Amino acid sequence: MRKTNRKVIVIGTGFVGTSIAYSMINQGIMNDLVLIDVNKEKAEGEALDLLDGISWGQGNVNVHSGSYSDCKDADIVVITAGINQQPGQTRLELVDTNAKIMRSIVGDVMSSGFDGIFVIASNPVDVLTYVAWKASGLDASRIVGTGTTLDTTRFRKELSSKLEVDPRSIHGYIIGEHGDSEVAVWSHTTVGGKPILEYIVKNNHLEISDLKNISNKVKNAAYEIINKKNATYYGIGMSTARVVKAILNNENSILPVSSYLEGQYGEEGIFTGVPSIVNQSGIREIIELNLDPYETKKFKESVNALRDVINSFS
Ligand code: NAD
Repeated sequence: MRKTNRKVIVIGTGFVGTSIAYSMINQGIMNDLVLIDVNKEKAEGEALDLLDGISWGQGNVNVHSGSYSDCKDADIVVITAGINQQPGQTRLELVDTNAKIMRSIVGDVMSSGFDGIFVIASNPVDVLTYVAWKASGLDASRIVGTGTTLDTTRFRKELSSKLEVDPRSIHGYIIGEHGDSEVAVWSHTTVGGKPILEYIVKNNHLEISDLKNISNKVKNAAYEIINKKNATYYGIGMSTARVVKAILNNENSILPVSSYLEGQYGEEGIFTGVPSIVNQSGIREIIELNLDPYETKKFKESVNALRDVINSFS
C-alpha cells in the first residue's frame, strides 16, 4: 500500500473550496491541509479562519495557505477553481473559461512533482475531469471527478423525505452528466434492500408517477438553490469530503464519481458519473449496472451530450 502523508491541497478557495475544507476539517480526514488560490490574500484569510476552530475539531489539522510547490508530497489535490454557474446558466456553458483555468492549474501541480490523485469539482465537472486527465498525463484511474455524488445524495434525501426512511438506508444512484442530462437509475434503487418499485406499491407511499417528479426535482435542485442564494456549496462540500476520505483511507467505497469509461456501459473515451470502487489508487473499478432500456437510452444521450462538448474544443 502506498505510504500517505495525509496531506490534501484545495485549489480555489471560494464557496466550494472552503466548504470542502470545512467539511474535511470537521471530520478529521487529513493531517495537513493547504489552500491555494489565485487570490493569495483570500487563501490566507480562509486558512486563518479555518484554523480558529481546530481545537474543537476531530483532530489536529495543520491548515495553511501555500503555493504549487506544496503539491509535491500531497496525496490528493482537489480542484474547485473556476467561475461558477450564474442564474439561468447551464453547467456546460461554463466550459471554455473553466477548461483554460483547469489546464493551467494541472500543469502547475504536475510541475511540482505531484504523484497523487486529483479530485475535480469545478463545473462542468465531467468535461473538466477529462481536461484535467489530458493535462496531467496520468493514468485515468488517478483522476476522480465528483460526478453525480451530489445528485445522488440529493436523490436519497428526496426519497428519504417522501418515504420517511433514513437516506443512508436508501440505495440508488444518479448517473451520467452532473447536469441536465443526468439519469436516475430507478431499476436499481432499493429501500432496505427491497426494490423501490415493489416497496412503494406495497406500502402505498408514492405513485409510480411521483418518481418522475422526484428525479426532475433532483436534476433542478442546483437551479432552485442558485436562484435563491446565487451558489451551491455545502452539499458539494460534504460530497467531496466523502470522496477524499474514501481515497485517503483506502476504503474501496462505491461512489458515483466521474470515471473514465473504457467500454463499460458500451461507451469509451469519456468521463461521467457511474458507481465506482474508490480507494487509494483512485478508481479501482467501475460497477456496470444492468440498466433497463429507458435508462440505457437516457444514459447514451447523456454521454453523447458530454462528448459533443469535448469534441467542440479538444
Ligand atoms: P467561487 O467564485 O466562490 O470560487 C472560485 C475560486 O477560484 C475563487 O476564489 C477564485 O479566485 C479561484 N480561482 C479562479 N481562477 C483560479 C486559478 N487560475 N487558480 C487558482 N484559483 C483560481 O466559485 P465556487 O462557488 O466556489 O464554485 C467553484 C466551482 O465549483 C465552479 O466551477 C462551480 O460551478 C463548481 N461547483 C461544482 C459542484 C459539483 O457538484 N461538482 C457544485 C457546486 C459548484
